[in-house]
Amino acid sequence: MSYDVIIVGAGVVGALAARELSRYDLRILVLEAEPDAAMGATKANSAIVHGGFAEGPETLKGRLCIAGRRAFSQLEAELNFGFRVTGSLVVSFDADNSRLEALYQKGLSNGLTDLELWAGAQAREHEPHLNSGVTGALWCSGAGVCSPWDLAYAALENALANGAELRLNQKVLAVEVLGPGSGARWRLSTDDHTYETRFVINAAGLGGSGLDALAGITDFPLTPRTGEYLVFAPGTGDLVKSVIFQLPGPLGKGVLVGPTYQNNLLVGPDARNDSPQAGAELRDTHTDRLAALVAQASRVVDGLDLKKAIRSFTGIRAAALTGDFVVGPADRLGKPGWHRAIGIQSPGLTASPALAKLLVEGLAADGLPLVHRTGFDPYRSPLPAHLSRRAPLLPFPEADAATRLDSADPQRMVCRCEQVRERDLEEAFSRGVPCTTVDALKRRTRAGMGWCQGRFCRPRVTSWLEQKLGRAVAPEDDAARSGLHRVEGKELWSLLKG
Ligand SMILES: Cc1cc2nc3c(=O)[nH]c(=O)nc-3n(C[C@H](O)[C@H](O)[C@H](O)COP(=O)(O)OP(=O)(O)OC[C@H]3O[C@@H](n4cnc5c(N)ncnc54)[C@H](O)[C@@H]3O)c2cc1C
Repeated sequence: MSYDVIIVGAGVVGALAARELSRYDLRILVLEAEPDAAMGATKANSAIVHGGFAEGPETLKGRLCIAGRRAFSQLEAELNFGFRVTGSLVVSFDADNSRLEALYQKGLSNGLTDLELWAGAQAREHEPHLNSGVTGALWCSGAGVCSPWDLAYAALENALANGAELRLNQKVLAVEVLGPGSGARWRLSTDDHTYETRFVINAAGLGGSGLDALAGITDFPLTPRTGEYLVFAPGTGDLVKSVIFQLPGPLGKGVLVGPTYQNNLLVGPDARNDSPQAGAELRDTHTDRLAALVAQASRVVDGLDLKKAIRSFTGIRAAALTGDFVVGPADRLGKPGWHRAIGIQSPGLTASPALAKLLVEGLAADGLPLVHRTGFDPYRSPLPAHLSRRAPLLPFPEADAATRLDSADPQRMVCRCEQVRERDLEEAFSRGVPCTTVDALKRRTRAGMGWCQGRFCRPRVTSWLEQKLGRAVAPEDDAARSGLHRVEGKELWSLLKG
């Protein structure tokens, strides 16, 4: 099978690059190792659309963060993935606020016009639960929160509707160059297919340096840097209005307290460099790290209700030695047609729309002809009310009664906490990006993300999906049954009580 461009990795960067390329008359393929898109850093991060003051204009991160942030409102209008402006605060406990002032100046030098330095009292007026120890804050009114995996699904859906192709369960295991010189083509092999292309985009996240190595490129090794989080029950996001950070440290932006797009309270992440040799255990969570998160978050806000903590998870940053994004063609390394976006740590989500554009500009400069596709439609087909989180929740007894509707009734409720009906599973299942795991349906519909964390709905969703697929669902494809150790349920509550 032969393509103009193959993108390896269906995270937010690969998905938006595919969508950007689908504006043009090209054969585009996205290859993803996992059974669903958005399974890397894109599904486990803080989901903040950052203001753009933490990195300066001398870094790619700084420049692309601002350009990406400016694209989010338009993207939300086109793709309807879930983005809202909340504003952000960086709070300080210092006697003098020179570190906040330095961040403010960096923001100004990036061209930001929505920053203000506040005294502690002013910050508490805005955020009544802010701790009395806060002495000052940097307010950024344009920062926000989004639903990161929905951004990837939405971009892919739109790219597929505009002619791109996506193949899941296709881990690239071997790379060959066919023919010499600048007209060379690449052959990418998985365990059951081979694909040929003129241009490759390596958007493989943490797998990016491994993929580069298959092409003989070894200049940017990546280190996994894990960050653990605690998520609180639906509705708890009301404790704060905006995302609240502490002053950044050497390993990143530090522990934040903020609402998610769906209004859960989120606390985290911490940061620990791990071994590149480590495996799936990197996604485990640990009582000592979660306890430290709680201590740090309690320093920032009063009134954390630990009884409402429902889940812990770990995100893995792909840290490059330079600390900056690595983006563009590798032709100076003698690899014409090989492009990459690796080392995409925070603010990679915010920067992703700008990263996608930069990648496409790089391909064009490298000889990819960009002829506009006739009929390109930037709009994703509209989501029904529940999937776009616009429908109000029913009282619990009504939701419970709806679980007992006839099995042929699409209104039958499968998840009482998040109030997901069979018609919502059906809609998610048929939108274009394949859904073959319970987790894939969970991320698209929120079935299993509520108070009971899937105890009620997992068997129902599993049986619905198995009926739909006509086969059993592999247990290891779903986080709850994959052998991951996440501190959860009773263990989490007793830790937090202690
Ligand atoms: C803890 C944490 C907090 C963060 N918080 C924020 C934030 O608040 N705001 C922000 O802007 N950014 C944040 N980020 C950064 C952001 O999440 C990432 O920059 C972004 O998700 C990276 O997307 P990606 O597409 O490059 O990589 P990924 O999402 O990791 O996608 C890479 C994909 O490539 C696939 N893949 C790998 N190897 C292969 C192969 N050989 N063959 C086929 N497929 C392959 C993987 O399965 C994966 O799906 C955070 C990141 C972390 C980890």
